[in-house]
Amino acid sequence: MPNMSLKRNPMPAQDAKVRSRNFDEVALGYTEEMAIDEAARCLGCKTMPCVDGCPVKIHIPAFIAKIREGDFEGAYQIITESSSLPAVCGRVCPQETQCEARCVRGIKGESVGIGRLERFVADYHNTFATLPPVKPTPNGHKVAVVGAGPSGLTCAGDLAKRGYAVTVYEALHVAGGVLVYGIPEFRLPKRIVAKEVETLEALGVKIETNVVIGKTLTVDELFDMGFEAVFIGSGAGLPSFMGIPGESLKGVYSANEFLTRSNLMKAYRTDAQTPIMKGGRVAVVGGGNVAMDAARTALRLGAEKVYIVYRRSLDELPARREEVEHAMEEGIEFCLLSNPVEILGFENPDDPRDARCGSVRGMRCVKMELGEPDAKGRRRPIAIEGSEFEMELNTVVMSIGTSPNPLIKSTTEGLETNERGGIIVNEAGLTTRHAVYAGGDAVTGAATVISAMGAGKTAARAIDEYLSK
Ligand code: FAD
Ligand code: SF4
Ligand code: SF4
Repeated sequence: MPNMSLKRNPMPAQDAKVRSRNFDEVALGYTEEMAIDEAARCLGCKTMPCVDGCPVKIHIPAFIAKIREGDFEGAYQIITESSSLPAVCGRVCPQETQCEARCVRGIKGESVGIGRLERFVADYHNTFATLPPVKPTPNGHKVAVVGAGPSGLTCAGDLAKRGYAVTVYEALHVAGGVLVYGIPEFRLPKRIVAKEVETLEALGVKIETNVVIGKTLTVDELFDMGFEAVFIGSGAGLPSFMGIPGESLKGVYSANEFLTRSNLMKAYRTDAQTPIMKGGRVAVVGGGNVAMDAARTALRLGAEKVYIVYRRSLDELPARREEVEHAMEEGIEFCLLSNPVEILGFENPDDPRDARCGSVRGMRCVKMELGEPDAKGRRRPIAIEGSEFEMELNTVVMSIGTSPNPLIKSTTEGLETNERGGIIVNEAGLTTRHAVYAGGDAVTGAATVISAMGAGKTAARAIDEYLSK
């Protein structure tokens, strides 16, 4: 008999007051009993609408049926036929707009907690599985992958499983891309990403860190080294700024820099040498997942007050609902329908050597109202005349978007990009340059982990078809 409860099993979580001052994971994961009980809510629909909502088409009813039987390893095997990073996707995928949005249990009540079940299965496997993955027989072909984010790692994993000798070149000193330098520890612990990377290495994938393609080596040199195809998964790490006065003051960061300093360079640790602004009053400008991560990180670094400054209303906020709720529970204040016009700096005409000179002291904003919908259907924010106000601040974090870095394009003949800097590809992920493929944020601009993984899979299939001709 299915469990016909209208409500899903809640996710155990750290208390909001306690977690707002530590970097430990917020969501604690289902127990075996909770997972089996939640799995019993799945009706095993023959038409599988949930699978249509998953960009990598995981066989959702089949893996949930295995959980119900208590065969967690069997569930893991089904998930990993389609996904190479299940512990990551179970945590950060926007499930509520993808697989879970299509679940029939969501028509009357709450959808099955598909993401939570996926996370449970992956964590169970990572804790208890002892057998290393079977190394495939080499097929004699060599492929290079640029970037060790979700798109590059997925492409590398899928090719390695088919017997290719794959080397991933990563600019940073650690593999994982945004999963390690962007998404904070309290949402996605680094050990989870490290474990997924280890699994790929056990399959034979070689990862060379501290290699910047376009500087250390070029794409042409990769071909000279004997690679027969190249996949570019270099992401969209170039931050945008508003172009308002005061953005070069001390204490203004891009969200990428702020999060990288905290996550990857361990600035939050008392023994770390990496400087970062801690404490004081912080405003994060923007309303996406990245803005929520930066605001919640600032709080954990010791800020006395953290604001999200966003020019539209709560209804238009693009971040995942769950992240917004968590941020609110932790005490972050939402300053909505507000837009910065100037960041104000500290000056001391009596003593220009005053160490505070040139640092942020506040931000001037204007109140907004929503007008007619724009081309994307979102109501356009319009400044209200005479509504300017000032906020007293010590740090401003700009989180208004990123775009692909032009370095690889500028050092590779024949690689075309669109007006937003995205690499142009066909439906198989092939770029305008022969044997060079691309996918993930480098093509689409900032998107999601699962769409990047999907693109990595598509390109791996196309590379395999090209090289096995
Ligand atoms: P990336 O993850 O950006 O990886 C690209 C890699 O390439 C990086 O490691 C980079 O160092 C490397 N690289 C770049 N240039 C070079 C070069 N020239 N040579 C060698 N290596 C290079 N998505 C979700 O689905 N859910 C979320 O909750 C979520 N939260 C996010 C929070 C933050 C703070 C950020 C920044 C993003 C978030 N995203 C989220 C978006 C998601 O992380 C990205 O869409 C995804 O990581 C894109 O994967 P990718 O492989 O294309 O690129
Ligand atoms: Fe849902 Fe994402 Fe898992 Fe697909 S990968 S089943 S969309 S949580
Ligand atoms: Fe189960 Fe929901 Fe998918 Fe039906 S739609 S198979 S109930 S997860």
